[in-house]
Amino acid sequence: MQHIIDRFISYVTIDTEADPNSNTTPSSAKQWDLANKLVEELKNIGLQDVTIDDKAYIQATLPSNIDREVPTIGFVSHFDTTPDFTGANVKPQIVHNYDGGDIVLNKEQNVVLSPSYFEDLLLYKGQTLITTDGTTLLGADDKAGITEIVTAMEYLIQHPEIKHGTIKVGFTPDEEIGRGADFFDVEKFGCDWAYTMDGSQIGELEFENFNAAGVKLKFKGKSVHPGYAKGKMINSMLLANKYISKLPKKQVPERTQDYEGFFHVVHFDGSIEETNVELIIRDHDRKKFEKRKKFAQKIADKINKKYEKQFGGDIVEIQIKDQYYNMREKVEPVMHIVSIAEKAMKNLGIKPIIKPIRGGTDGSRLSYMGLPCPNIFAGGHNFHGKYEYVPVESMQKAVEVIIEIAKITAEIKK
Ligand SMILES: [Zn+2]
Repeated sequence: MQHIIDRFISYVTIDTEADPNSNTTPSSAKQWDLANKLVEELKNIGLQDVTIDDKAYIQATLPSNIDREVPTIGFVSHFDTTPDFTGANVKPQIVHNYDGGDIVLNKEQNVVLSPSYFEDLLLYKGQTLITTDGTTLLGADDKAGITEIVTAMEYLIQHPEIKHGTIKVGFTPDEEIGRGADFFDVEKFGCDWAYTMDGSQIGELEFENFNAAGVKLKFKGKSVHPGYAKGKMINSMLLANKYISKLPKKQVPERTQDYEGFFHVVHFDGSIEETNVELIIRDHDRKKFEKRKKFAQKIADKINKKYEKQFGGDIVEIQIKDQYYNMREKVEPVMHIVSIAEKAMKNLGIKPIIKPIRGGTDGSRLSYMGLPCPNIFAGGHNFHGKYEYVPVESMQKAVEVIIEIAKITAEIKK
């Protein structure tokens, strides 16, 4: 257990916060600090063909130790942390034998991690938790995933009696700013399928995510002195308001769950002359997703038509852009890759929690790049903030899941 704690702490104490305002890859130079360390470590534990490219993408190989042909599988995680909360000077705290009560993260600032607000904590009574000191995020997202993959590979190398096929390891920068898959060399990776170790609670297994589109709307107004505006002024803010009022009121993030999709207004800035609105559209169902996009277009068309005589031309400009798709489409034809992960968990006494992701993952992008890639728990909770924590026992279980998947896959004929 200490080994896994030490490894995890050696990663989270290196700041790797991604920078959405940078155009380079990795987006922040400091991501190299951990990337370079990981390369050394992967070599030290005995992996083969350890490579890092000029964008800090890391790949490594654990060669097969059997003489029959079995599928090549991969495990993927990301070493950057979100820019939503600071990841500098992380000072992890270890709570042994958690008693189910409040955990004071920071006395001076009165930051308390409490099960009365975060009920999930009670799942881990008696376990060892790693928390923050209340001033930073922890970085379990996704350095827990990296810890688990490295530890599992090390275990397999030290235990050659466990039979497995070729296993590949892939670590990426910039997942948190949606670019983790951008330069992933799927062909070089050469896997039949892979798993991202990037989920939360123990047992999580995900192969469905949203279909996603972004909508940009520009409402064009006409400013005239309000005293003389009759029949002349176009107030673009009121037009934008009209548009928004046509969207279904109940289909918003704060009123939807599970498989319910939504329209979400994420930006509004306006003056009389011009108002810009941005929406995002999300739906797991591809047909409903397409319908939502059409609906967004239709409202704009109607407003244009209605005011054509009065104001002329297109007073609403609309741009709809697909962002990512539900990986289910790509995973369904190869559902055995989900069944294998499910079986691995069951073999280890872990109850699989299969649920749709209400967001996207790098795995969904990779799935569309030709690498089907469901997501498995990494164990952490409350990602992207100061309440982030991870039970060490969950990380250990994730290590075991990786090893178990390797074993099961070694039984499959290619
Ligand atoms: Zn993550």
